[in-house]
Formats: sequence, C-alpha cells, structure tokens
Amino acid sequence: MAMHSSDTSRGNAAAGEGAGRQPPRPAILDRVPTGLFIDGRWIESGETFEVVDPASGESFARVADGTAEHGRMALNAAARVQPDWARTAPRERGEILRRAFARIMEQQEELAALITLEMGKPIAESRAEVAYAAEFFRWFSEEAVRIGGNWQVSPDGRSRLLTMRQPVGPCLLILPWNVPLAMGTRKIGPAVAAGCTVVVKPARETALTMNALATILAEAGLPPGVLNIVPTTRSGEVAAAIMASPHLRKISFTGSTHVGRKLVEQSARGLLRVSMELGGNAPFIVFEDADIELAVTEAMKAKLRNNGEACTAANRFFVHSSVSAAFTARLAERFARLVVGPGLRPDVTIGPLINRAAVEKVEALVSSARQEGASMAYQGEVPSSRGFYYPPTILAGVGADQRIVREEIFGPVAPIVAFSDEDEVMRWANASEYGLSSYVFTRDLRRSMRLAEGLQAGMVGLNKGVISDPAAPFGGIKASGFGREGGREGIAEYLDVKYVALEG
Ligand code: NAD
Repeated sequence: MAMHSSDTSRGNAAAGEGAGRQPPRPAILDRVPTGLFIDGRWIESGETFEVVDPASGESFARVADGTAEHGRMALNAAARVQPDWARTAPRERGEILRRAFARIMEQQEELAALITLEMGKPIAESRAEVAYAAEFFRWFSEEAVRIGGNWQVSPDGRSRLLTMRQPVGPCLLILPWNVPLAMGTRKIGPAVAAGCTVVVKPARETALTMNALATILAEAGLPPGVLNIVPTTRSGEVAAAIMASPHLRKISFTGSTHVGRKLVEQSARGLLRVSMELGGNAPFIVFEDADIELAVTEAMKAKLRNNGEACTAANRFFVHSSVSAAFTARLAERFARLVVGPGLRPDVTIGPLINRAAVEKVEALVSSARQEGASMAYQGEVPSSRGFYYPPTILAGVGADQRIVREEIFGPVAPIVAFSDEDEVMRWANASEYGLSSYVFTRDLRRSMRLAEGLQAGMVGLNKGVISDPAAPFGGIKASGFGREGGREGIAEYLDVKYVALEG
C-alpha cells in the first residue's frame, strides 16, 4: 500500500467482512422515557420527532417535541422551587449527586449503548464518556460543601468586609449532540451543587440520553422541578421563550460559535450571566525533537476520538519539516488499522458521523484542500451499506491558510502542514478566530513553556493528546467562548458574589 503518493491510497481501514451488519437493539430503549420532563413528571406534547441511528440512517425512536409553552412551564417549575433548593443543605445536594454518580456507573454499559445508538461513536468510547460524565457528579458533589466566602478587615480598619457566594438562580442549559451525557453532567453537576435549578434543552439527535439521566437523578433523590428537560425541534423558539422570562438568571451553552453568538445577543435583554463553550480549531504541533511514537499515539486520540467530532479535536497538524514525512508515514500505518462501521460492533474503532450533512461538509473540505494542492497521504474505506460514514483520511502538503485548516472539520480527517521554525508555527497556530485547545510535542522544557504561554488557547496539552479532566477548568478564549466547566472554577459559573459591609 503506497502511503505517500499524491494519489488516493485506499487502505484496509474500514469495512472488511460484514462491516454493514447491524448489531442488536440495546435493551435500555425499552425503558428510557420519551416525554418531556417538567416539574418531576414525564409529559407528552402531542407531537413527536424521530431519533435516527447514524449507523443505519434509520429512525429507532420518537421523542416528545416541546413547544415554547413547554419551555415556559419548565422555567416556571424551576423558578418555583429555586428558593427551596438554594436553602437545601450543601451536603444533601452533594449526596444526591454522589448517588447519581454511582447509579450512572452501575448503568455504564446500557448508557454507553444508548449514546452510541444516538450519536454513532464506538461503544468503547461511549463507555469512557459515561465514566467521564459520572465523574463530574462526583467532583461537584465534593465541591457542593466547599462553597466558601471571605472575611477581611478594611484597609482603614473601620469596617469588616464579608463576601458570600449564593446560587445565581434558574439556569437554561443548552447541549450539543457530540458528547451528550458529559456535556450535560458538566453543567447540571455544578448548577445542582451550587443550589441552582435548571431547564435543559438537549440536542434533538441525542434527546434520549438526557432523558435517561433525568431518570437517574430523580431516583437519586433530586426534588421535582430542580431539573427540567425540554427536547424540541424548535430550539430557537423554545430558548427565546425561556430567555424572555424575568425568572431566568443564566444561560450556559455548548455548541457552535454561530449559535453561541446569537444567544449572547439575546442574553443582553435579561442581562443574563453567560457561559459559552463553542467551536475549536486546535493546532497539534510536533517539533523536530519530539518523541514521534508518542506524538503519533496521542495524535490518534486527539484526532479520532468521538469520530473526530470533538471541539477539542486536533484540526491542524503542524509538523516540523524534518520529521513530517516520518510522522505522516507512522500516522498512516495507524490509520490503516482502523475499522469503520456501526459503533455498537465491538471491533469498530470509527463510527458514522452524525448525519448526511456532516459527511457532505467533510467531503467539501477535503475536496477544497485537494483543489488547493494538498495530496491524499491516506484514505480508508467505509461500509458500502447505509449510514453516514466518512473514511479516515490524511492530507499532506497542506498550506497553513487553506480552508481546511481555518474551519472546524468535525470528522476523521488529518491535514498535515509542514513548518520550519518556532516563531512561524506560533504565528500560524494563533492565526485562528478560535482558541479552545492546543497540543504541543517537544522534549524541550523551555520551548514547552514558551508555547504554553504564547498559544492563544484556553487549554494546552504538553506531550498529551487528551486534556479533558473533570477536575480541571475546561474552556476557551476568542471565538471558542468564555467561562469554565469542571475544576474549582466550574462551580463559580453558578454562584454570585455578595459583599456585606459590617461596621466596626
Ligand atoms: P449547534 O450550535 O448546532 O447546536 C447546539 C445546541 O444548540 C443544540 O441543542 C441545538 O438544538 C441548539 N440550538 C440551535 N440553534 C439554536 C438557537 N437559535 N437557539 C437556541 N438553541 C439553539 O452545535 P452542534 O452541532 O450540536 O455541536 C457541535 C458544535 O459544538 C461544534 O462547533 C463543537 O465544537 C461545539 N462543542 C463545543 C464544546 C466546548 O466545550 N467548547 C464541546 C462540544 C461541542
């Protein structure tokens, strides 16, 4: 197999015998509710929408389709119980999250199957997502009891300055489809721990996963009204209705920069607190002194986790010209071992993309790169059957300002750009409107620190291709948004600071 010819080299990644075979339907589907969850009750809306398995392109369930009125009902429920929930003892709030953590892990296998069925990623990755998602509940169960304040003597000695932290109030949490459980727990965990009530608007593609989580939280003892869930196909309408209410105090959004911008504009009316976790365009930089084997291993994760549909996905590989051929060859060998197919099949390592439009977008980016002079260093195959597959692809000879390195690819495509020195690569890496994550591979500590300080990003992985950790502050700068999720910082997004001046 020729790996570096400018022609497409079709590897044996993919398909193979029976790649189109569909695995059996997961049992959890028979018991996950399909309604709207408002004020502790499951209700129907009269209308429903289809949930589609991206591995087959076929609908496998119908979910209640919420309206603006349901959005208002959900927010009213959240606003009504807000004072009681804020008064609930921190230990009790924490214990509910801790119990939910344990229940999620007890149901890891079933939840993983549901995630894979709805969004397509390989089952092993869905298991990892479930564990990651549960960890946010464990982390914030511990933070619930550490919401402190401050005591200070004023500089002139004449007063005492107290600060306390109080829940901001009812929140609207809007979620993406790509990491459906963990993007939920990363917001619900700190909100619940801080004493806030919430309305969750899941992505329509992955509404069942959020409903399964609602069941777990209710069983863990979360009182009615603290968590409300409104799946809908009319996200703009429902969100606007909720944001028009004077009871709403905060919006936390994870999704595209385009929608995030709209929501920030809309939030101005109510002067809402806002957290925005938006798109990314992560550079993955490999210097000439890097451990190439390590860089390739980490590149596989940074590029291909979540089928490449991750905001943290390595989007642009900048590899020093003296090692770019070796790096590309090793990466292509690893790509050739990938198996593309339905994520529920245990041998599959790359699942389908979320829908047909996603495949077409990746196709368009790859063809524009080829027109701009990039060569196909490697391309796998996809199952010939139905489903929204795109083959794992490596592009070499890519220019630093081509469209494919400016836009979020959101698929299993690695464009490789060769660079010649540190200043140049720093400039290229920072020449993006986004600033979420970045990855640097070098053995030189001083250089590592120069890059860590100089890269315009909210997060930097040094010799590491996976940086997400519930105990660390996740978030971006520039068009990747603002606010942090996880870590000590995560709960601060759901707390207001109040200052009390005391005489004497
Ligand atoms: P999206 O912006 O299309 O949708 C996100 C959510 O917003 C969905 O629930 C959708 O229904 C809702 N929505 C759409 N239009 C809306 C409107 N007008 N008003 C209110 N809500 C609206 O994004 P997506 O395709 O679901 O997710 C992929 C994007 O999310 C990528 O850009 C990815 O980088 C980003 N993402 C970011 C992070 C992060 O933490 N920074 C994590 C995961 C995904």
